[in-house]
Amino acid sequence: MKMELESILLPGVDNQRPIVISGPCSAETEEQVMETARGLAAKGVKIFRAGIWKPRTKPGGFEGIGAEGLQWLKRVKEETGMYVTTEVATKDHVFEALKAGIDILWIGARTTVNPFAVQEIADALKGVDIPVLIKNPVNPDLELWIGAFERLYNAGIRRLGAIHRGFSSYDKKIYRNLPLWHIPIELRRRMPELPMFCDPSHIGGKRELIAPLCQQAMDLKFEGLIIESHCNPDCAWSDASQQVTSDVLDYVLNLLVIREENQTTENLSELRRQIDAIDEQLLELLAKRMRISREIGTYKKEHNMPILQSPRYSEILEKRSNMGESMELDAEFVKNILKEIHEESVRQQMVIMNEQA
Ligand code: PEP
Ligand code: MN
Repeated sequence: MKMELESILLPGVDNQRPIVISGPCSAETEEQVMETARGLAAKGVKIFRAGIWKPRTKPGGFEGIGAEGLQWLKRVKEETGMYVTTEVATKDHVFEALKAGIDILWIGARTTVNPFAVQEIADALKGVDIPVLIKNPVNPDLELWIGAFERLYNAGIRRLGAIHRGFSSYDKKIYRNLPLWHIPIELRRRMPELPMFCDPSHIGGKRELIAPLCQQAMDLKFEGLIIESHCNPDCAWSDASQQVTSDVLDYVLNLLVIREENQTTENLSELRRQIDAIDEQLLELLAKRMRISREIGTYKKEHNMPILQSPRYSEILEKRSNMGESMELDAEFVKNILKEIHEESVRQQMVIMNEQA
């Protein structure tokens, strides 16, 4: 679906990368909100975030301060001049947030997964002109993410933006939520006009990962960053390990290297021409390999042989990944490619087997 989007930039927020949104995971007390906001405003942050309604994994934890916190955000606006944004998950949240003059809304990852909830929010926003940022669904489903943009767009929302907050996985290793960068990269290809924010706090789940994730996002040309911050991070009522003080935030932002496209791209163009030519060769070779695979399929059919010959497959994987390593290719990478190629060969041979004689 073709979308004609409008800028999410509000007056006074300049277009320089990164556009920064920061503030606590949750609004806890009026003092905590005001102190955090003052610290951020002093560092030049223009957009303040705070969760008022918190989607928590289990009941019994702090589930957000609720509508009362909206009044604190109003105070942040009045006293610091920052814009304010919060998460909405139901139509009631939307009505309350609009009534309180919230400037930007965001839809959380646990809401984006649910088309009923997204539709309810979209319906509640009909006829309202407000920027809405949509976090990726917790599961790595790009179509579901795009579907959420379409629902909001169909309700008349033109100021849309994406937040990449990573994808949950069963076995958490380095990251709280896997970045799977190829998904936001593909989103950019599909919706080039859509401004993209990275949320390194929820991807990393820990402070140390914020700086490298921010840099990666900048190198991938994200427009903005949404980073959790707190006047006293260790004592935060939610997500304590991933929040930073305004000083640390400022330090991290100052370290970022923002690489913009420059004029001297002639060398790059030449290298890209080489890549294009190599890709063409790769595709030609793949096509040739598949043709031979199909011939093998015909042979197997005529001689009543099964398609899968496991020893041969293991041998291919083993030999090729060693060969790849000797060419300075990552063994795992080579194995993955061969697995994909093998899968496609098997699929093609199955078509041949099933063809009527
Ligand atoms: C949040 O931003 O505090 C939040 C709940 O994030 P997510 O929806 O990405 O889990
Ligand atoms: Mn959080």
